[in-house]
Amino acid sequence: ISEDVKNELANELSASTPGFSMIKVKEQQFYKVGLADAVDLFRARRVFIKDGFAYVPLKEIDAIVLNNYRTKLSKALALTARSLPSIQSDERLQPLLNHLSHSYVGPDYSVQKNTGKISLEQIDSLSVKSFPLCMRQLHRALRDNHHLRHGGRMQYGLFLKGIGLTLEQALEFWKKEFIRGKVDPDKFDKGYAYSIRHNYGKEGKRTDYTPYCCMKIIMSNPPSQGDYHGCPFRHSDPELLKQKLQLYKIPPSGITQILELVKGMHYQLACQKYFELTHDVDDIGFSLNHPNQYFTESQKLLSGGKELKKELSNSGSSHQKSNSQESMNSNCTPTSSNTTDAELEGLEAYFTED
Ligand code: SF4
Repeated sequence: ISEDVKNELANELSASTPGFSMIKVKEQQFYKVGLADAVDLFRARRVFIKDGFAYVPLKEIDAIVLNNYRTKLSKALALTARSLPSIQSDERLQPLLNHLSHSYVGPDYSVQKNTGKISLEQIDSLSVKSFPLCMRQLHRALRDNHHLRHGGRMQYGLFLKGIGLTLEQALEFWKKEFIRGKVDPDKFDKGYAYSIRHNYGKEGKRTDYTPYCCMKIIMSNPPSQGDYHGCPFRHSDPELLKQKLQLYKIPPSGITQILELVKGMHYQLACQKYFELTHDVDDIGFSLNHPNQYFTESQKLLSGGKELKKELSNSGSSHQKSNSQESMNSNCTPTSSNTTDAELEGLEAYFTED
């Protein structure tokens, strides 16, 4: 409501809204909503009513929005449940439905304005400051074991590509580490280098693979013994996760909150909490869907919101510019829009070398 209306109703607003003195009424914004939307407040005598409208203070409005959302969602779910049998019997729609829960419609982080701007020497410190836990874990395992198995190479390699590593840098990075272990340079060049070039679209079908989003990491290809890929919030044993968080100096109360979220299967929220605790912010202000988004937001925050802002908006706009339909259809599998699942499976099978 406007300031004029608020001043006119100030006495009534103060008398009918518990905890609102005249001064507080002046400070706070009020919203005029239909009585039907504020029944709970009305029932608890916590709101001023006039001519079929409730005058709701800002601090109560989220409950109304939430209620509204809940009602719409449950209607939509009921409608979906009713229509599902007939939709499922249509074989043209079946594959679409099967992929729906894995779909991701955000930026695919394949177009990076900062390609080549990150040096290999920076990766160790970036992995501590700005990598999400899944990538930090992969980086640590790579440094410790001088090797990562197929799933880890795919997940971590595409993430590094997404943060800006060029093909040449990626080849150097992986080779340096692998030859510290059991792989000799010749074996690396003959075997592993091919898969890295493949990720960059330089071999095989020349698909420019996109980094995995959280949903894909969480939902598919769970790690087995000796693997380090996956999402630690989803795939780690809670006790091991706790130890890891302790090692990374997360305070005990933060660990408890994270483990509660994990228990409720809110893995991405647990990761958001980890972001907040490691960046010392109360609210990250975005909804986390992608490890590369985590990295970009972290860098933006650590650089005072300047450096990567440009890169962020560029990444979104170039994505839209290139093909808005493709952007909507991006399902976060490591594929371009014209690569089928069968082709992908073939690729996965091709790279099974550990
Ligand atoms: Fe990585 Fe996403 Fe899991 Fe965070 S929620 S650890 S970014 S997969």
